[in-house]
Formats: sequence, structure tokens, C-alpha cells
Amino acid sequence: KPASKDDKIEITPISDWLPGLQRPLVISGPCSAETEAQVMETCQQLAATGKVDVLRAGIWKPRTRPNNFEGIGTIGLEWLKKAKEATGMKTAVEVANKQHVEEALKYGVDILWIGARTTVNPFSVQEIADALQGIDIPVLVKNPINADLELWIGAIERLSGAGITKLGAIHRGFAKYGETKYRNAPQWQLPIELKRRMPELPMICDPSHICGNRELLAEISQQALDLNYTGLMLESHINPDKAWSDAKQQVTPERLAEMIDGLVLRNGYS
Ligand code: PEP
Ligand code: MN
Repeated sequence: KPASKDDKIEITPISDWLPGLQRPLVISGPCSAETEAQVMETCQQLAATGKVDVLRAGIWKPRTRPNNFEGIGTIGLEWLKKAKEATGMKTAVEVANKQHVEEALKYGVDILWIGARTTVNPFSVQEIADALQGIDIPVLVKNPINADLELWIGAIERLSGAGITKLGAIHRGFAKYGETKYRNAPQWQLPIELKRRMPELPMICDPSHICGNRELLAEISQQALDLNYTGLMLESHINPDKAWSDAKQQVTPERLAEMIDGLVLRNGYS
């Protein structure tokens, strides 16, 4: 199918909102903000590697099943603010509704992302877009949990319709039934088709949620770089095995830096 003119949206190049960006862009930090010390120490260790551009942390966690840790809430935004002040690292959080957007903006978060369980819901995405009307903050849109390209594009279009131009997509894999090698199937053909239809849209790979375990992160990260992705979002934690969510797929900042060092930058990037 030829790229439709309806797919044309205005995109501000990522180098305009992350000046001095080196390829690949690396966003890293814990799945969840847990304690002030955990956020601060993770951020300081990540900053010390010199390989991480943006600190991520989940503040409100949309859990598939109840009775799991559902996020520390607004106090975590204060920790992120302190971590940013201490290290100069930009910050990114997941938002799923209007209240999250308002809180994140109030605490000076630099980048918002929409999670896979939110991208599936046009009402939620529209609520976020409406809350951001006239506010020029970068928003990264994770693929919906199911392999529905139109839903992913639709979410990006809703944000674009609210005047947001600092847009990017995050490929975090697609839910499947049963035990397989990856926690979420990569289905590379979806992000590739999205890039074909929106060539200016920065594409970021989230190997952590594709793999579901730390052993496979390098393999998926390398595949993303080979496909000329703009960046990687990788979960990291000072004590991964003790993480309150997604323990198996998190790595220490030190191991993250080693893994990034082992990646081969192709396409002329060095
Ligand atoms: C996360 O980034 O921790 C997260 C909840 O991811 P996803 O929305 O991709 O499941
Ligand atoms: Mn996670």
C-alpha cells in the first residue's frame, strides 16, 4: 500500500529537541521509581557512564494483573527532579491520563511517553493529546500491545492533531500467547512499515520489554541499530534482581554501559 497523504504529520527533528545527540540515543533508568535513593543512585551511575542521554522511570504503572506494585505516584516526580538537578540528565515518564500529564508538567519532566496499554485506547490517547494542546513537549508513543499498526499511527495522529511536533515512536514488541523466546514478539515488519509511512518519525527500540530477560538485550539492540533506529530505551536498576517490577529484564548501569560498548554502529555512525 502506498504511503497515504493522510500519514503526513509535522515532525520536529529529534536533534532540535535533544541538541548534541549522539547515535544511538539512549534512554535508561528503572522500570519503576521505588525510593529516592534508588532513583538518585541509578541516575548518578547512569550519568557516570557517559552513555545515557535521558533518565526514564515509571511513576504510575499500568499492571496487567492487580495486586502488583502500581507505582510510587507523584512523590517519584520529586525524586526525578532532584536527580535531574544533580546530574543534568533529562527525564522521561509514562503518562496514561490528563492528571499524569499535569503532574509531569508541573515537576518539569522533559519527555513523556505513552505506554503500550494506553496506546490501544483512543479515548485515553485523545485525553492526553487534549491536555497537551499548545504545549510543545516531546512525546514518544509505544506501540499498542497488540500488533495493530493503524492503532499506533492513530495515536501519533491524535498527538499531532493537538499541535505536538516533537514526536517519536517506541517499538516494545507485541503480545503473544504462550511461552516463546521473547516476552513480546518483535514483529519488526510493523515498525518498518510505520517508518515507511512516516519517514521523519524517530524510531526507538525498547529491547527490555521485547526480551523480558537481560540475556537477550544485546541481540535485539543490535538488530535495532542494524535497522538504523534512532535510539534505544533500556531498563536499568542499581539492584536489578530486587526490582519491584520487571526484575528479570533490568541491568545495572555498569552492565548497560558494557552492553552498549559491545554494539556495532553501522550505517556510518560512530
Ligand atoms: C515500561 O516502560 O515500564 C512499561 C510499562 O512498558 P510497556 O508500556 O511497553 O509495557
Ligand atoms: Mn517495565
